[in-house]
Amino acid sequence: MNEHYARIIEAIGEDPQRPGLRDTPARAAKAMEYLTRGYRQTVEDVVNGALFPSDCSEMVLVKDIELYSLCEHHLLPFIGKAHVAYIPDGKVVGLSKVARIVDMFARRLQIQEQLTVEIAETLLRVTGAAGVGVIIEAKHMCMMMRGVEKQNSVMKTSAMLGTFRSSQATRNEFLSLIR
Ligand SMILES: [Zn+2]
Repeated sequence: MNEHYARIIEAIGEDPQRPGLRDTPARAAKAMEYLTRGYRQTVEDVVNGALFPSDCSEMVLVKDIELYSLCEHHLLPFIGKAHVAYIPDGKVVGLSKVARIVDMFARRLQIQEQLTVEIAETLLRVTGAAGVGVIIEAKHMCMMMRGVEKQNSVMKTSAMLGTFRSSQATRNEFLSLIR
């Protein structure tokens, strides 16, 4: 990857040998490896057995989970928040694990719609929940820094599974809790 970053620096008309840039390919490669570390994680690693029996059948919500991802169309960041809720059916998952599932999928090349669905489907599968709702709001650098240069547009996506899809009341509860 270092070599490729050196070629990109040349291609934009810079000199990869000048002092300020000499170590940039290695640093950029390291940063990119970090930003895509989700490819080297599995759901099993991330959840690591943190599932606990529970009688709780009320909504569990983790809101404002910070999210940093890279859009797969431009390799530019999109940054925002994820709100994740589920209704347990016999099992609950450690709260930090919800954030880790978000991170695992965010640290890959993504489109926001797909990221939202992947988080929801994974949480449903892992917990066997009665329903899962995920909402992501994010700002996309590919819109803000280039193209239409819309600085204030926020993209919102949602995925509703199980009771979050079938019950308007559940959806409304979720929406009012994150408001
Ligand atoms: Zn993009």
